[in-house]
Amino acid sequence: MSGDGTWHGVERRLVEWYPIVDTQKCDGCGMCLLTCGNDVYRWDLQATRPVVANPGKCVIGCTTCGKLCDKDAITFPEDPKKFVRNVVVKYKIFPKVKDDLAARLEKFPEHSVHLEEDVINGKQ
Ligand code: SF4
Ligand code: SF4
Repeated sequence: MSGDGTWHGVERRLVEWYPIVDTQKCDGCGMCLLTCGNDVYRWDLQATRPVVANPGKCVIGCTTCGKLCDKDAITFPEDPKKFVRNVVVKYKIFPKVKDDLAARLEKFPEHSVHLEEDVINGKQ
């Protein structure tokens, strides 16, 4: 996500993608909060349960915390592939993705590689 609250040109607030926790199924293990690197969760000390405090920070299409929850207590609004593809079509994001890639490689040249022939041919 861009620092301006957009996802490849789409306002993040328009894209409803976030985890939903079923506190009845949840056993309070904490795996989701420890796993998410995007600051989506906070911890309710009284209830000993996770709270989805920053839903807009959830990475669109990510379901990692849901996969790791062995109580199946975390769900998402829709099938991720279907959801993301609908967003891509609705907002026609791919021209912006191309621009974003060019900007990224300009800003971080170390994110690109120049594979030499020897490496490709397995000579090194
Ligand atoms: S990983 Fe699942 S069971 Fe563990 S705290 Fe999170 S929601 Fe609850
Ligand atoms: S789906 Fe990914 S980004 Fe979203 S809360 Fe879970 S781990 Fe964090």
